[in-house]
Amino acid sequence: MSSQRAKVYFGSVKQGNRAKFASFAAKVDEIVKKLDLSTIQKKDKVAIKMHLGYEDNYQTIPVFFVRRVVEAVKKTGAFPFITDNPTSVYNAVNRGYTSETCGCPLIPFDGVKDKYLYKVNIDFKGVEFLEMGGVLHDSDALIDLSHAKGHNTCGYGGAIKNLAIGAFSAQSRWNKYHTIWQSIPYWNPDKCTPEHAKKLVESCPEHLITYKNDEHRLNVEFDMCNQCMKCIEVDKGAGCLEIKQEHFSAFQEMMAIGTSKVLENIPKEKRFFINFAIEIIPYCDCWPFAQPCIVNDIGVLGSRDIVAIEKATLDLIAKEGLNESMIPLYFRPNLDRKVNLHPFQRIHGPMKNPYIVVDYAEKLGLGTKDYELVEVLSPASTVSMKAPTHVTEIEPTFF
Ligand code: SF4
Repeated sequence: MSSQRAKVYFGSVKQGNRAKFASFAAKVDEIVKKLDLSTIQKKDKVAIKMHLGYEDNYQTIPVFFVRRVVEAVKKTGAFPFITDNPTSVYNAVNRGYTSETCGCPLIPFDGVKDKYLYKVNIDFKGVEFLEMGGVLHDSDALIDLSHAKGHNTCGYGGAIKNLAIGAFSAQSRWNKYHTIWQSIPYWNPDKCTPEHAKKLVESCPEHLITYKNDEHRLNVEFDMCNQCMKCIEVDKGAGCLEIKQEHFSAFQEMMAIGTSKVLENIPKEKRFFINFAIEIIPYCDCWPFAQPCIVNDIGVLGSRDIVAIEKATLDLIAKEGLNESMIPLYFRPNLDRKVNLHPFQRIHGPMKNPYIVVDYAEKLGLGTKDYELVEVLSPASTVSMKAPTHVTEIEPTFF
């Protein structure tokens, strides 16, 4: 039984020895070594899919670590390149990512105009197809290099979201994924008068409900909804509005499908997943500003199984818990410890359970939730090791 468990390697930010060999960088190197990149062939084109950030957000994976991953890929004789959407690639320099600093080219996954795309059929809740970035589609191997953080639509963004949303055109992201809840009825116009609609609009403390009087049309922005249910209280008696689990689960189910479409182009032995659970912010890296870290830094995880690494990352975040003093005032978190919720559910609402996508991904055969966490260079194992004598640099050595 235990031999079937997926290995997830973990390096903690906690340190047991005042030495380079026990440092976080050493743990990143050790995890890359354990992932065994030797299944990548010489001359393979290796996509390193990242989220390169946006505008005034600096909280992406430090280029210091990206370069180490790139150098490890180069040692196989393959050709790595970093890829993301055109806007993020174009502005990556603002976060220190250039071909010189990273050690490999940065290439938009779908061309400079979001036009080099492959249609992939999904047939999900009225959505017939998504448009996948052609560069990712053409790659021989994939390193899914992700920053673990919260996400307003699905609770959490990590390895799955980096491919599910991050590998598709802007049209697919915004007009298909982010509107999928519209395929599930939530408002009955025949039961609602304009006066009642106005009350519903006023009931939402987040200002997410809008009503067009001339069209008699009510809209709920489910992406930002924290399921406080104040609108449903006001709707009692009329019964024209619904806020259901299905409205939120649909996005996560679609993410699992999108991820499966990306992975089906990459041979299993050439898929690698690395999650950096540091700078754990409440929203995605595509928000245009830096955010307070609501969970303390945890570490880095690596696996060949996307389901296992996501489950392990979420479990470690749950174990660490929220750093409540850092929660921004624009959230209305549920901090009641009697209610069993993941930290990201406390922030984004109980129906944005971040494990939902993990369940769907496992059902699609993308991996297993049954994992074994293998800690590398743990503080306990390095604390009694002999640290090298510190040598002071008297004159520049350039090393
Ligand atoms: S459940 Fe969502 S839409 Fe309704 S009042 Fe609360 S935040 Fe607004």
